[in-house]
Amino acid sequence: MDMIDPFGRSISYLRVSVTDRCDFRCTYCMAEDMAFLPKKDLLSLEEIDRLCTVFIEKGVKKLRLTGGEPLVRKNIMYLVRQLSRHLDSGALEELTLTTNGSQLSRFARELADCGVKRINVSLDTLDADKFHAITRWGNLAKVMEGIDAAQAAGLHIKLNAVALKGFNDLEIPDMLRWANGRGMDLTVIETMPMGEIDGDRTDQYLPLSLLRANLERQFTLTDIPFKTGGPARYVQVAETGGRLGFITPMTHNFCESCNRVRLTCTGTLYMCLGQNDDADLRAPLRASEGNELLSDAIDEAIGRKPKGHDFVIDRRTNRPAVSRHMSVTGG
Ligand code: SAM
Repeated sequence: MDMIDPFGRSISYLRVSVTDRCDFRCTYCMAEDMAFLPKKDLLSLEEIDRLCTVFIEKGVKKLRLTGGEPLVRKNIMYLVRQLSRHLDSGALEELTLTTNGSQLSRFARELADCGVKRINVSLDTLDADKFHAITRWGNLAKVMEGIDAAQAAGLHIKLNAVALKGFNDLEIPDMLRWANGRGMDLTVIETMPMGEIDGDRTDQYLPLSLLRANLERQFTLTDIPFKTGGPARYVQVAETGGRLGFITPMTHNFCESCNRVRLTCTGTLYMCLGQNDDADLRAPLRASEGNELLSDAIDEAIGRKPKGHDFVIDRRTNRPAVSRHMSVTGG
């Protein structure tokens, strides 16, 4: 039953954006004045559960809830608890989420109780003023409370930071020491040209090859084969005893090992983060009570998974590669 795409890649990882809404407005991610989907267009949590269940029956082993901010979707813990039955049955190996941390102090314990073991928390700076500036609406103290609560609940945290030239590049060494010091891995990510934002991405773009060279002046970094099922490549940091990951969609295209597809909160499946082709799964979901139509539509979509993305950020290509924001497809 495994889903195999035309390039022989086995699709075992589903990311689900449960809402396009977010309580932050990170400047590199969204415009300040965003138009969100009317709530009536969203799949219900029961429908998302049904879709995820079909994917799990078809070989998905790792499922990540994302958004928007997944923890601002009303009643989200209902979905997490429902999905956790697939952990109990052994059909699903990992249920996880990517969050900005703002609501974690409320939900950490229940997430752990549902079998969530690891989460990704997005955090681009440890400076409260800079944090407020980059998120437009965020409060660093609240996120720190969330991180404390998650660790107290026994959740493993990986911090994700988008590397932004002139914003946090000089701060990454401190963030690495802080994260590793608290037992968290840190992953740095290259900014991707997705959706219109208010600023210019060319000014912010920092190739991670440059960042790594700078870090190597202070740290001893050794490549290691450690993997978490996603695109990050890891190094061991001798000085901190922890790990640092690099996600390099721009400088090192990792599409050859892509095992992922992404579902939006309206039931659209994107077979690639950086391409426009999609498949509507809402119609076959709603067309019948059985899952046959849905299963066929998924097979057809996987059969169209493209070889990879072709993101470019330079002064000549000053347009997003895809018009949708990351919050639509889910990070
Ligand atoms: N709200 C959650 C969060 O903050 O983690 C989940 C959704 S957010 C869109 C997922 C991740 O995508 C975050 O780490 C965010 O920093 C990252 N992101 C958003 N826009 C991006 C872009 N254009 N390029 C690279 N990463 C981006």
